[in-house]
Amino acid sequence: MAEPTQVNLDKMWKYVKGFAEKSGTTMHPTPAVTEAVVKGLAMHMDELGKPLCPCNFYKDKQAEAKLRRWMCACDEMQIYKYCHCLLFVREDGLPITEYLPEGHEGREIYGTVTDPTPDKGRALKHKALAVSTPLGETPESSTPTL
Ligand code: SF4
Repeated sequence: MAEPTQVNLDKMWKYVKGFAEKSGTTMHPTPAVTEAVVKGLAMHMDELGKPLCPCNFYKDKQAEAKLRRWMCACDEMQIYKYCHCLLFVREDGLPITEYLPEGHEGREIYGTVTDPTPDKGRALKHKALAVSTPLGETPESSTPTL
C-alpha cells in the first residue's frame, strides 16, 4: 500500500492538531481513525498539492481540488462544525451535528450531537443556509475504515 511522504504527513499532523485546538474539537479516542484520515490527507497533498478530504469518492479529483468545498477543513466543518471523517470530533468520538440542516445524513446517522465549545469554530457560519454542496449533490462519502 502506498505511503505518503513524511514531509506532507508532518504538515498534515501539524495542521490537524492546530485546527482541532482552534475549532474546539478533539482527535478521535481511537487513534487509528485519526491516523487513517491524516494519512489520506497527506496522500492527497502528494498527489494534488491540496488537502482534499479523503473520505469522499470524486469522479475527478483534479477538478474537485480546484474548488474549496472539500479542502480540509471543508465547508461542512467551517459552516456546521461537522466532520464526516471523524477527524474533528467531541471527546466521546461523536461528530457535532447540532448545526446541520434537518435531513442531512449526519443528523440521520448520529441524531443531534451538541457542541461542547460553541464559542469556537464555525468561521463560515454565516453561510449556513447557502452551503456550496446542497443535499443530494455531495460526492459519495463514508467514514474511514480501519
Ligand atoms: S470532513 Fe471536512 S473537516 Fe473532516 S477531514 Fe474531511 S475535509 Fe477535513
